[in-house]
Amino acid sequence: MSLVMVIEDEEAISMLLSYNLEKEGFEVAVVANGMNAVSEIERLMPSVIILDWMLPEISGVEICKLIRSKPDIKNIPVIMLTAKSQEEDKIKGLGAGADDYVTKPFSVPELMARVKTNMRRAPLFEEKEKIITFEDISMDLVERKVKRGENYLHLSPTEFRLLKMLLKEPGKVFSREVLLKSVWGENIYVESRTVDVHIRRLRKSLNQYGPDYIRTVRANGYAIDKNALVENDSADLEEDE
Ligand code: CA
Repeated sequence: MSLVMVIEDEEAISMLLSYNLEKEGFEVAVVANGMNAVSEIERLMPSVIILDWMLPEISGVEICKLIRSKPDIKNIPVIMLTAKSQEEDKIKGLGAGADDYVTKPFSVPELMARVKTNMRRAPLFEEKEKIITFEDISMDLVERKVKRGENYLHLSPTEFRLLKMLLKEPGKVFSREVLLKSVWGENIYVESRTVDVHIRRLRKSLNQYGPDYIRTVRANGYAIDKNALVENDSADLEEDE
């Protein structure tokens, strides 16, 4: 399941795009405020970005330049969306680093085709980063699939991002606050208890096929750790109701 990010302040358009992208089988994240765009891209690492040119606080062209200046996200394909149909604007958009350009009013099937083409064109991750593993758990960042041994796990997007955080630095203890900020984002209010709920679901999925590798560090947070089982047995697990 690949994630497409739609950066667009007009709700009618972002809703139309979300509906159609989801119908095509993509996961969709809408960002209405351009000021949050770059931090949201860094957090969610979409496979393709549909970026509106006309945003209230920062233009799509500026966002595109920012994307291209950041090593972690600079290879994500950007499709610029705009009402401007003049040739010089098109050149400006492509000059800022957009991979493609669609003029409003756009044809939905054409835009969907462009999304697919761009998704194929630019591999998001270097080969070494495509799959991250810990023991018998492997996560394919491009296909967005998780396997334990030979079994595929069905994780929600939130659980996927949680697991990704833990897998990237095995042994490191992440506090609930850090997990909240990087998995849910800074601008969304959720209680730290929400982390426990999602960890419990993640654990349930993972533990179907092997021992418990998610270590609960009481009053502190969570880590992925091979010796988790021993520690969890003696700990008073807050997330087990
Ligand atoms: Ca707009």
